[in-house]
Amino acid sequence: MALFDPKTKVIQGYEKAISDKNLSIKRYYDEIGRLYYGQYKDNNVDVTKDINTRCDSVTKLYRDIEELKHKILFEKGLKLCPSCKTENNLEYAFCFKCGNKFNPESATRVIMEDEITPAPSAPAEEKAEEKPAEEKAEDTAE
Ligand SMILES: [Zn+2]
Repeated sequence: MALFDPKTKVIQGYEKAISDKNLSIKRYYDEIGRLYYGQYKDNNVDVTKDINTRCDSVTKLYRDIEELKHKILFEKGLKLCPSCKTENNLEYAFCFKCGNKFNPESATRVIMEDEITPAPSAPAEEKAEEKPAEEKAEDTAE
C-alpha cells in the first residue's frame, strides 16, 4: 500500500473544487449564450440583467479558482510572483526570476470566507497531526 501524503489529499480536494467551478463557469456561459440568442431572436426581450447576474457569478468563480490555485501552490511550498507569475519557493524573499520583492504576508495561507470542504464522498479522516519540530534545545554556547 502506498503511503499518502496528507497534503496530496488536500490538494486533490482543491483540484476537485477547481474543476467543479470550471464546470459551473461553462454552464453559465451556456446560459448567457442562450439568453443572448433569445434577445437576438426577439428584440422585445431584455436579458441584460439576467446576463449580468451570470457574468458576476463567473467573475466570482474565476476569483475563487485563482485563490484555490494559490492554496495548491502553498501546499506544495510554492508561491506565485505577483509581477511575473513565476513559481517561487515560499521561503524566497525575492522572485528568483524578476527580482520582485515579496510581501512577507504572501507566505501565509490564504483564507477564504467560504472554506472549500473536501469531496463529501471521501471518508472523514482524522487530519494527520503536525509532527512537532525536532527539538534543537541544545545550546552550544556554554
Ligand atoms: Zn517575478
